Amino acid sequence: MIGQRDTVNGAHFGFTDRWGGVSAVPYEELNLGGAVGDDPAAVTANRELAAKSLGLEPARVVWMNQVHGADVAVVDGPWGDRPVPRADAVVTTERGLGLAVLTADCVPVLLADPVAGVAAAAHAGRPGMVAGIVPATVRAMTELGADPARIVARTGPAVCGRCYEVPEEMRAEVAAVEPAAYAETSWGTPAVDVSAGVHAQLERLGVCDRAQSPVCTRESKDHFSYRRDRTTGRLAGYVWLD
Ligand SMILES: [Zn+2]
Repeated sequence: MIGQRDTVNGAHFGFTDRWGGVSAVPYEELNLGGAVGDDPAAVTANRELAAKSLGLEPARVVWMNQVHGADVAVVDGPWGDRPVPRADAVVTTERGLGLAVLTADCVPVLLADPVAGVAAAAHAGRPGMVAGIVPATVRAMTELGADPARIVARTGPAVCGRCYEVPEEMRAEVAAVEPAAYAETSWGTPAVDVSAGVHAQLERLGVCDRAQSPVCTRESKDHFSYRRDRTTGRLAGYVWLD
């Protein structure tokens, strides 16, 4: 259910694994993604189970319409009947409001400045990392009073640099933007390490309190991996303030 949890000064961070939900094969069990072909009733049930196990009210969790871009949405409550905007990060100053990001290999980035009371969840796959979703999110937090030096950053399970094979030209393009993402697979071919790129960006932005999940989604049977399974579920990362 909740594979990793952390609390720092009233800021809460949680990352799910794939177990403890009601979805059938190939989405077994805790698929939290609503756009991957799973039964919508199962997804709703899973979102309720995950929220309750974190101590969050299911209706007080904000989800995104993620598109691998660099747009950030500032939110003060659930979308309700409003259309969910396309964005790859959500930022809030609303205490008790859960922000959620869906992934299955991409890097879920959870950020919070507990002193200023600003939290953010971002979706950083390779395109988003290159497009600058991480600096855009930190900028939006800063505009709401956050100080990068106080921001706590947690990144969740993601495909690792030893597993994320890409064409040589793509690795060069990514490394030109973010050299830390340059990687090689365990079988000796060009690769990209998106988590390393995200953490290098956060470090340059002055975010010191950072931690990275040791889990590689492609290697872990307890996590969904798009690159491994193609048709599969989505994990979620949740952040909220007391
Ligand atoms: Zn790996």
